[in-house]
Formats: sequence, structure tokens, C-alpha cells
Amino acid sequence: MKKKIPLAWYRCPLCGHKEFEVLYVNPAAPALVSPQLLAWDVVTSVCTHCGLVQSNPRPRPQLAAKIYGQLQTAVDPNELAGEPPKLTGQALAIRKEQADYLASIPEINAGAAVLDIGCNHGFLLHELKLRGFETWGIEPDPILAAKAQSRGLRVITAFYENFRFAPESFDVITAFHVLEHTHDPRAFLKKARNELKQDGLLIVEVPDLSKPNAEKLDDFFNTQHIFHFTPTSLASLLEHIGFEPVETLEMSYYAFRILARKTNRRSRRTHDPDEVERARRIVQSYKAARLRTLTRISEIIAQTMNGLKPSESIAIWGAGKHTYELLRLTPLAQHKRFVFVDSSPQTQRHGFMGFAVLDPSELPRMSPELVVISSYAFQDEIALRLRDMGFADDRILKLYDEVKTYDGM
Ligand SMILES: [Zn+2]
Repeated sequence: MKKKIPLAWYRCPLCGHKEFEVLYVNPAAPALVSPQLLAWDVVTSVCTHCGLVQSNPRPRPQLAAKIYGQLQTAVDPNELAGEPPKLTGQALAIRKEQADYLASIPEINAGAAVLDIGCNHGFLLHELKLRGFETWGIEPDPILAAKAQSRGLRVITAFYENFRFAPESFDVITAFHVLEHTHDPRAFLKKARNELKQDGLLIVEVPDLSKPNAEKLDDFFNTQHIFHFTPTSLASLLEHIGFEPVETLEMSYYAFRILARKTNRRSRRTHDPDEVERARRIVQSYKAARLRTLTRISEIIAQTMNGLKPSESIAIWGAGKHTYELLRLTPLAQHKRFVFVDSSPQTQRHGFMGFAVLDPSELPRMSPELVVISSYAFQDEIALRLRDMGFADDRILKLYDEVKTYDGM
């Protein structure tokens, strides 16, 4: 059952124009796939005046919020009571790097007041506190916010857009992988500018459109991200609002970071035909790279299936959009015997395309011939857990040689 969600056109938040060229369409997954998935075609367009790439037309924000609201099941007391996860490996290294980065900026004084927008479990806030900063966080997900609060952190449970801090409250505002999700990045950044002290600093990090990750089955252009910035288009937007970019860093995981200072100067220039042309080329080569990825993964699946009898069972770890794409785009769906497992209690309750979804701890008992890891961000962690359960490497199928991501935590 696929309900069509109406899409509407919005003016470009960078230049205010409303002429767009559609570059790419990622078709909607049926709503029954997973409670986390929303059913609409993701239409990616470029503003033909300034070159900002965006999901346009798109669902109205009220509608999207309502759909998210319905999908967000009541807060489970068990999930709320659980300890915040212990960060390890790359996820921890990223938070430490972010905190060290702040501490290394000469203009930021010891004890500076820092607001982290979209603070998640509060891992960055915790690291900042250890380094002597005064910290505040804001996080819309009630479970994540409650866990951050349980660690003694000052965290407000709200969307940043809906909560007003006093003007000139902060020395530094950080937004790591948040701006690309917002419906109105101009209003978001103007609000941040207002809540920063004079000469206050903003640190924004977003996925990098100029290097879109086409190595994974999940489409870079998805329902989660509304805006796709390049270092050029984000700098233009910041300058337009009254920020002066101080430095741009290219991150190792397909993202970039801009450090910008609040100023009283504003740029008026938005027309950028070169950026429009660059956007077309980027999306064109993304499509070709994605096709190569699909071919590569299909070949791995076909080869693996050759070594299996139809009666032997395959377990698939992961029951979301990644698995939907795996079944839709590769020969995997031709196999006859599957079981699905997923660590998310919500997914276990909901099932996957009408199939039961079990807890991964059931795997040793079920003893499938093969476990396919259907996740990019968590591939390596899942492989470790499988080894701990006693699965030999030749019974574990990993689809990716290397994982480079900010996602996951
Ligand atoms: Zn524009």
C-alpha cells in the first residue's frame, strides 16, 4: 500500500528565486517496508539562479512533521531507562576531534558558552565539559535528550527552530550534520546569528555535495536531507546572512566543516552560473558511480548465491531501506529461505514487508548458512558481534570494503 504524499515547490532559501531544474529522482519505498521510512519520491533539483541543490518539490513541513510524529511510537520506558551507549572507535574519535577542534581555536576562551544544536546523546557536550566549556544542548528526540540529561548535561528537548534563547547568549554555536535536515536553513542560521554574541563563532558541518558518497546502497539523495551544500553554496548562504567564513575543512567522511564569525557585513551576490553547472556535473557523475556500486554489489550477491543451495537459509541483519534496496536491486530476492534480524526494538515490533524481524541474539540458535550484513554505517560493528556469536568469516557476507561515515551516533 503506497499512499501518495503531496509535494509542494518552495523558493530557494539562498537567493529567493523559484526556477529549478530537476536533476535526480529517488523513488519512494512503500510505507510497509519500515516504520522509519516515509513514502514520497525524493526529487532533487538545482536552483538555476544560485546553484543550491535541494529537495524540491517536497512535502510540506507540517505534513512531514505529522508523519514523523505518527511514526514515532510512544516513548518506551525501557528505552528511556537504558544507559546511554558507550561510544567506541570512530564514533568516539569524531566527538573528541570536534571538541579538540573547538579547544584549538585561539579566539575561543576557556569557559566559553557553547550551544550544540542536535546534540544527540550529548557525547560532544560531555567532551566539551571535560575541556572546561560552559555547555548547553538542544535535541528534538525525547529519548536522546533524556539520556543526555541523565548524564547531568543541560539539554532542552525541542527543535531548535521552536525554542528561543535570549539574544547574544553564546560565544560558540555548533551544528554538526543538522542544517541539511532543516526546512529553512536561512531562518535557522539567522536565529543562530541572533543568539550568538558579537564576534561569536558558528561551526557548521554538513555532508559534502561535491563528494557525494555513491559507494553504498543507501541513496545519498534521501528523505532525511533537504539541502545539499557544497563549500561554495554554504559559504554564500552564510555571507548573505551576516557571517564571515574563517576556514573550511574537508573531513575524511564525505563532509565539510565551516567555521564562520558573526559580522555586520552582508553579501548581496547570489547569481552563480558556475555553481549551477557544477551541480549538474556532480549529480551526473553521482548517477554513474551509483550504477557501478549497484553492479558491484549485485555481482557479489550472485556469486554468493551460487555457492548456496536453495534450501539453505540466509539471515539478513538489518531490516530497513538498505535491505529494501538490496532485495529490489540485486538478485538476493531470488533466494527462497530468509530470516530477518535487526537490533531496533521498534523494527522488531513492526516487522519488515510482512516478515517477522527477530532480535539478533536469536542467530546462533537459528544457525543460518550465511548472514548478510545489510548496513553501511554499522557493517563493521555487526561483523564483530557475529564473530563473538561464533560465526566464521565464510558465513558472514560484508558488502563494503571500507566504511567512511559520520552516521551512526
Ligand atoms: Zn537559489
